[in-house]
Amino acid sequence: MKAYLDNAATTPLCPEVLKEMLPYFSERFGNASSLHSYGREALKAVDIARDKIAKLLNASPSEIFFTSGGTESDNWAIRGAVGISKKDKKHIVSTAIEHPAVRDTLIELKESGCEVTFVGVDKNGIVNVNDIKNAVTENTVLVSVMTANNEIGSLQPIAEIGAFCRENKIPFHTDAVQGAGAVDLNVKALKVDFLSLSAHKFYGPKGVGVLYIRQGARLKKMITGGHQERNQRAGTTNVAFIAGMAKAYEIACRDMDINNKRESELRDYFIKRATSEISGVTLNGGLENRLPNNANLSFFGIEGESLLILLDLHGVAVSSGSACSSGSLEPSHVIASLGNSPELAHSSIRVSLSKYTTKEEIDYGHDILKDSVKKLREMAPLFKQETGKGSYV
Ligand SMILES: *Cc1c(COP(=O)(O)O)cnc(C)c1O
Repeated sequence: MKAYLDNAATTPLCPEVLKEMLPYFSERFGNASSLHSYGREALKAVDIARDKIAKLLNASPSEIFFTSGGTESDNWAIRGAVGISKKDKKHIVSTAIEHPAVRDTLIELKESGCEVTFVGVDKNGIVNVNDIKNAVTENTVLVSVMTANNEIGSLQPIAEIGAFCRENKIPFHTDAVQGAGAVDLNVKALKVDFLSLSAHKFYGPKGVGVLYIRQGARLKKMITGGHQERNQRAGTTNVAFIAGMAKAYEIACRDMDINNKRESELRDYFIKRATSEISGVTLNGGLENRLPNNANLSFFGIEGESLLILLDLHGVAVSSGSACSSGSLEPSHVIASLGNSPELAHSSIRVSLSKYTTKEEIDYGHDILKDSVKKLREMAPLFKQETGKGSYV
């Protein structure tokens, strides 16, 4: 038995999406910029994809730009907003829990002279709109707040922040990569200027994404070369992946309610089992305003990384912290920002479900988890089983 419970890192490709993509790897191989029939055929697929995604976001096709994924879209929105601004001093407002695609970009900009405010979050991992309002100055060139956090699934008040930014004419970006397919992304209702998506988080292929750029909002272009994407993002159009992404997003939006209901029920069942059958467990983040597929748990006295490895030996795939930060022993900046001790941040794992996750997988995953926690605690000399208390050496 196996259980893939790491869908916040990436989702499997939906079979219908693969089917949509295949012709563009064989007979329909044309370059979408070519004027002949091969090119026109490829361009037609891209146009259809752009229309589909625009409609699902309540945007115009001319506001949809295809990129190589969430990381590029985030970089473009942030660096592009800084690059286009004429202000002498440039200030960006963001949060303490952003994905590395945003966070590391901001840290680099900070090192090169930009001012950056990382607004903190409450114990549930949710930013307070007033804190964003208070952080804004006359030099603010961008507010960037993620729609849904990738580690703990906390949902941010994007529409409220959007309303404030629009009223004060401050460009507003949201990294919606983790929210796509689980929350309604209506760019007009959210009043966002820039919004990032990545196909592989909603059963599409890896290496393709979207940046929505509101008509009238401006960004410096980041990739120069050919005239693709209305001269704003150069590079030969990735026709197959774009067609696949549009199909994937169409299916994800169509099935959103049914998937959310199923996943949240399974997720709650998992949390209930884990917190009642295993001692010393903390749920990181609250159950309200949380992605339906996300559970993030800390196990007192245990290192998340060790737990991940032990689970993997039994075919159970989870993540410790974000996928990008596992591999290093840095505690997750997200869990740390909830006000927990560094030990608790070190002892967290993320369990994330997909529309394909079954109850059998959840039961199997839980049982392996329970055994693994027991084993690791038995190995930790300072952990006292009776009290559920321990400490690190
Ligand atoms: C996965 C993810 C990204 C990065 O997207 P890629 O397409 O993998 O580059 C950015 N932000 C969030 C919130 C994510 O979950």
